[in-house]
Order: sequence, then structure tokens, then C-alpha cells
Amino acid sequence: MAVIGKKAVKKVTTPKIKQTKLLINNKWVDPVEGGSFKTYNPATGEVIAKVAEASAKDIDLAVKAARKALESGPWATMDAADRGKLMFKLADLIEKNAEELAVLESYNCGKTITDARGDLVGTINTLRYYAGWADKIEGRTVPVRGKFLSYTLRQPVGVIGQIIPWNFPLLMLAWKWGPALACGNTIVLKPAEQTPLTALRVAELAIEAGFPAGVINIVNGFGETAGNALVIHPGVDKIAFTGHVETAKIIQKKAADTLKRTTFELGGKSPNVVFADCDLEQAVEGAFHAIYFHCGQCCTAGSRLFVEQKIQKEFVERLAAKAKQRKVGDPLDESTQQGPQVSQEQLDKILHYVALGQREGAKLVTGGQRKGAKGYFIEPTIFDGVRDEMAIARDEIFGPVVSVLPFKDFDEVVARANDTFYGLAAGVWTKNIDKAHNYAAAVKAGTVWVNCYHIVDTTTPFGGFKMSGQGRENGEEALDHYTETKTVTVNLA
Ligand code: ADP
Repeated sequence: MAVIGKKAVKKVTTPKIKQTKLLINNKWVDPVEGGSFKTYNPATGEVIAKVAEASAKDIDLAVKAARKALESGPWATMDAADRGKLMFKLADLIEKNAEELAVLESYNCGKTITDARGDLVGTINTLRYYAGWADKIEGRTVPVRGKFLSYTLRQPVGVIGQIIPWNFPLLMLAWKWGPALACGNTIVLKPAEQTPLTALRVAELAIEAGFPAGVINIVNGFGETAGNALVIHPGVDKIAFTGHVETAKIIQKKAADTLKRTTFELGGKSPNVVFADCDLEQAVEGAFHAIYFHCGQCCTAGSRLFVEQKIQKEFVERLAAKAKQRKVGDPLDESTQQGPQVSQEQLDKILHYVALGQREGAKLVTGGQRKGAKGYFIEPTIFDGVRDEMAIARDEIFGPVVSVLPFKDFDEVVARANDTFYGLAAGVWTKNIDKAHNYAAAVKAGTVWVNCYHIVDTTTPFGGFKMSGQGRENGEEALDHYTETKTVTVNLA
């Protein structure tokens, strides 16, 4: 475990912004066309920095730098073990600067300082896990017919365009960098336009760690411009994307022209099923965490809460009592449990769904209101008596809004849980071991949590069934998406 967050810091001070440029070929540069955009503090709505904005011309320079580093120079010939060493060094530097990074993450993204510190632990763990893999990615010898020796080599895919979202800026960076670097690829990363700051600070640490020029490049900017330029660039071999399902459809179509490899980690409308034979206290706690962790801004949020009818009334009462007590406020205050949503756009979207839920006849049990006039805060919200066809039960809201859907029996709830084009995660609460395993087998989701929720570890594969994604991140599985397998056959006759 990384040792961070042990010091009791009572009032965290506003961080200093150290870097706002683009990183191309280990140089901090201004964009060719001189563009810039503002980044905000979601807790106040105030501008905190102006950041360099990449256009297609900057993307081209970054891709060329990444290609050069891939094909010549120290990275191309480096021993795998030395690649691992660089990654360990980067993890150490992040750990050394963890508190600064956690504060910066909280400041730019709105997550509570406690959650941000947790993300730092995950970020460090991920880089160390994949650093360990660097010299363990092996091919096979294959018993072919005839007098031949056949073996496989696992080589880097090439230049990887990585496009990440705003909800877990550092963790998503680590999930993308870890396997890519371990396998010897080079990177052009586009952070989300809402949250570019921590990626830039970590890139400074990567230079300090000694990564050669061109291995890691950072291009801040918008999706339709910088992101699109990366997707259509012929010098990019693969796009690794985390974000909205509609964006992934656009990317897949555009990537088709160059037949790029793509991996997608997308949204969800995850079913969290509570059977009457659960440990009620534990299930209420778990269902609460499932929806409200990071203000519901998680692709795995347990937003469809199926509760067995027998316990529905008591369950909703207990959940509502907790929601009313939740401390919503300044994310840099250590006692805060819920910070702001990331942007005005997200806040408006959530309020739209709250109104829609009421119009469609769901019962608003608690919450539903914006909190304060400054920043993007919203009350934890519960809808009861939701029906499957309602928009609040079908669409990903990406906010602290849970839909309680009553059910009567196992087969019914499994069918309803699976009645969605999403398939990222699912939860189940029961003390009956048969029920738990039968549910885990039947539910169509890449991750199933039994009597727990949001347990994500760098060692276990993560990704979606159906339209929640393609490919897997984390674990050994992620390495398959960052290597090409080459068969070599030698004539021994
Ligand atoms: P959200 O709605 O949660 O912001 P998006 O899918 O729009 O999710 O954003 C996730 C990432 O995808 C961001 O880095 C964003 O800039 C990028 N992005 C958005 N649109 C495109 C696009 N057309 N091409 C490439 N990247 C895009």
C-alpha cells in the first residue's frame, strides 16, 4: 500500500498550478496555432487556469515524436527490465508527490480529498503492477508439423492514442499507461478537457523519472478537434478510449478508415439486486456506496437498485435516512462526503433527469435539488416505485440519483437486470450462496460484486459486456490489447 493520507491535514490549501503546456518529445511547448482553453474548479465555478489547446497540427507533431521513439532511440532497444525500472521510478515519484497530486485532482475534478487520495493509491498500485509485468511478457514455442521451429514474439502494438474522461483523471491515466508502457508502446494521451491538470503534473514526473523523449506525449484539448485528430491519424496504431458510448460509436466509425485497433471502456446502468435474505445493514450501506461514491460519476454506479418487494419499504426508509445525513460541500474539506458534479453541463443533465423522473410518475423520496448557488452541487436523490421503461431506469445519468425498482423473484429480476444494452457491472446482496453464484453466472456484466460494490483492483480484468465496452483493462488481460503476436518459423531441415 502506498503510504499517503496518513497525516491529518485539516484545511487543505489551494494548489499551485505548475504546468499548462503541451508535452511533445519531452519538451513543454505552446500549441502551433496558439489556442488555449479554461479549466474550472467545480466547487466554485471559477477559472483556475488557462491550458494550452492542441489542434491537429500539434497532434501530428506528438504522433511523429511517439513514432520516432517507438522505432529508434533508447526506448526501442531498452531491455524490458529497464522499462519496468522506469515505471517503478515513476510510481515512486508519484508516491512522493501524492498529497500534492491528490489536492490538485480534487481541485480540478471536484472529488473529495479523501476519494482523491484513494485514487492516488490506485494509480501507484497500477503502475507498480504493470512495471512488474514488463519483463514477464513471454511468447510460446509451438509444436508445428514438419522439421520447423515455430515460436511467437509479443511485440508492442505501436503508437497508442489514449483518450480519457474527467471522472478519474489520474486512475484512467494509469490504467492506460501501465500496460502500454510495460509492453513497450509509446503514448499520445489526451486528457479530458475538464480535467487536464494532474496529467500534466504526472508527465513532469515521468520526465524526472527518465522516460526518453517521445515515449509519453500529452495533448490537452477537446474531443471533436484534438481527440478526433488522434483517432484519424494514420500514424496511430491503436486508440484506447474511456468515455461515453455515443463517443465510442463515433470513434469506431472514424478509426475504421485506418483499421486501428480500439479498446473501449464505456458507460453502464448497473443493476444492484438486493434479496430479502441479505444482511440488511450491510446491503443498505453497500447500495448507498454503490450509487453515491464520487457523486454517482462512475461508469459502474449501482443506479438500478432492484429491491425484493418484502423489504422495499424498510430498505428505502433506511437509504433515505442516510442520504439526508450526507455532508455535501467543499471537496477539500476532509469531513465532506460528497463534492460537486464536475460541470454545469453535468449538473443540468442530472436536474433534467430528476424532472423527467417526476413527470414519468416515479416517487421522489429525497433530494433532487441543487445545493447552493455557487459550484455544481446536488442533493443525493432517491426515486422509489420506478418502472423499467422510465428514462431514469434506462439512461446513464452519471449523478447521485438512484432508481429503486421492486421485484418478486429470482428469474424475474435476472431478466430485468439484463434488459439493457449496457453490461459493465452488477451487484447482488444475499446470504444464500446458491443464489449469489447463480446470479453471478446469469447477469450479463463484466464485473459482478457479491455483498460488496466498487471493489476494483489493478490485478483483476475490468471491462464491459454488450455496449459497455470492448476489451479488458487491468490484470494480465490488458496486456493482450497492447501486444501484437508474431509467429516466427525456422527451417530446421
Ligand atoms: P463525457 O460525456 O463524460 O464527457 P465523452 O465521451 O464526451 O464523455 O468524453 C470522454 C473523452 O472523449 C474526453 O477526453 C473527450 O474530449 C473525448 N472525446 C469526445 N468526443 C470525441 C470525439 N469525437 N473524438 C475523440 N475523442 C472525443
